[in-house]
Amino acid sequence: MTDPDCIFCKIVAGEIPAITVCQDETSLAFMDIGPLAEGHVLLIPKAHAQTLDGLSADQAAALGRHLPALVRAVKAATGCQGVNVLQNNGRVAHQVVQHVHFHIIPRNSGDEFGFNWPAGKYPPGRAEQLAKEISRHLAR
Ligand code: AMP
Ligand code: ZN
Repeated sequence: MTDPDCIFCKIVAGEIPAITVCQDETSLAFMDIGPLAEGHVLLIPKAHAQTLDGLSADQAAALGRHLPALVRAVKAATGCQGVNVLQNNGRVAHQVVQHVHFHIIPRNSGDEFGFNWPAGKYPPGRAEQLAKEISRHLAR
């Protein structure tokens, strides 16, 4: 499935250029055009889906199987100290391109990329309650 208005579908179709890292029947990895660090790679499914929850388990498995090798290769090629694998879903979560993608981002101490990570704390019983609710939805 493709979306004619989707920039990543156009890359898959060869209608706009991208620097390919690797691909197979279901997945494509290419260089991010606006890298957060040198070696920033994007991994996408070739079929259009807007967000991760739009993939079947099989589609997600076919895509995710590339992550360990890609992380190893990005580390080896750039000599980076660490890697963030980042996956944004929805505009509120900073998803700008509405086609599922994983960012593989090389990290080094003192680099410019940072997170605001406002870790919170649950009131007694709330985590258990939410875990139960999430489990219930998983079981559906
Ligand atoms: P996100 O904010 O998670 O949707 O990230 C979208 C990413 O896609 C950004 O890092 C962009 O730099 C990247 N991007 C957008 N257009 C292109 C393109 N034509 N080729 C390669 N990367 C792109
Ligand atoms: Zn698309």
